[in-house]
Amino acid sequence: MKPLVIANWKMNGALPAIEGFAEQWLSLGELDPAAVTTVLCPPFPYLSAVKSSLPEMELGAQDCSSHDAGAYTGEVGADMAVEVGCDWVILGHSERRQYHGETDALVAEKVARAQAAGLTAIVCVGEHLSQREAGDHEKVVAAQLEGSLDGADPKDLVVAYEPVWAIGTGVSASAEQANEMHRWIRDCLHNKFADDAAQVAVIYGGSVKPDTAGELFACDMINGALVGGASLKAESFHGIAKAAADSGRT
Ligand code: PEP
Repeated sequence: MKPLVIANWKMNGALPAIEGFAEQWLSLGELDPAAVTTVLCPPFPYLSAVKSSLPEMELGAQDCSSHDAGAYTGEVGADMAVEVGCDWVILGHSERRQYHGETDALVAEKVARAQAAGLTAIVCVGEHLSQREAGDHEKVVAAQLEGSLDGADPKDLVVAYEPVWAIGTGVSASAEQANEMHRWIRDCLHNKFADDAAQVAVIYGGSVKPDTAGELFACDMINGALVGGASLKAESFHGIAKAAADSGRT
């Protein structure tokens, strides 16, 4: 499966910074689109600016509403994201679950809405440190998958394994820990979708950096990365995407 490397800028960025990112990205040299897919997910107001500065990169939103349209102040519909050029949307990120009380059931509704609009849903799952320490990580992730993917179409789906203890902490899961969990996630997906599970990319997120990316992408169960902090600088995001392209896993 071709590796997939996705930038989650979270609530970071500004118009001049986007221009700077684009200039630097273009100066770093083209990555073979047959070897890696790269996706940028900036905050909503910057989607169009990113699309015009870097038209050859794929575009994603960081969330979308579970509703179609109407009186939902502050929400952004999946169709709106498509209209400004998105093909992807991150759903159920741990920060949405933690700070906005998003449940698996709500994530499942968003996945359905996003897929109906033509977006590929990147569904995030992952355990907290206390859950890992208690040995419950597989059980927690299996339950998140069961609830968040209820009714999902495996054709337009990516699962991002993001252990909460590794997000923004500088402490990445080891390649071995990540690969083991990806194997578990693959088993869960196979139980749910049978042979169609093979279409679902399972990517890792949590303090991925250019110097650790090669080791992760060498793992047989890891199909790419969701990158937060290291995606804000073109040079480090390019380094990670290049490591994915160089892995030769197409
Ligand atoms: C994320 O929030 O999706 C993420 C992976 O962040 P970071 O790379 O900064 O840990």
